[in-house]
Amino acid sequence: MSDQRKDLEAIRKQAARKGWRVERGKGYYKMWCPCGEHWKTVKLTPSNPNYTRNLLGQLRRATCWDKEKADEEGSQ
Ligand SMILES: [Zn+2]
Repeated sequence: MSDQRKDLEAIRKQAARKGWRVERGKGYYKMWCPCGEHWKTVKLTPSNPNYTRNLLGQLRRATCWDKEKADEEGSQ
């Protein structure tokens, strides 16, 4: 049932590896993109079963989440 919590924890760790600043709030995390322009609030216990997937989609579309990857592809 709480698989999403594991997924969200993985996203949080991935964000930290990517240089994002992560701060814990009450019932959520706030994650700041290293570029300083983007940020995302992440619920700790989402009720929407698609929350994690939607969140990743938003991170990829609206932040620099996949920037490293995009840079690699661009240099080939
Ligand atoms: Zn950014």
